[in-house]
Amino acid sequence: MCQHKPACPSADSADREAAHPVAVHPEQGWSLLCNGVLLFEDTGELLPDGRIIAPHRPLAATQVMKAA
Ligand SMILES: [Zn+2]
Repeated sequence: MCQHKPACPSADSADREAAHPVAVHPEQGWSLLCNGVLLFEDTGELLPDGRIIAPHRPLAATQVMKAA
């Protein structure tokens, strides 16, 4: 799937988020990376094999919700 040189981290790699986005939909809150990972704006991820990675990075949006 990835055609970059050097190749981006695979979906199995720990730094999979470093792959290049090939489709970005901020209005829908997700990006598709060239290794097939769907990266959501809350840092959750959906891997190409169907595995789900829970959000793992605090964001400003979370802090806004706590303040409200
Ligand atoms: Zn790539």
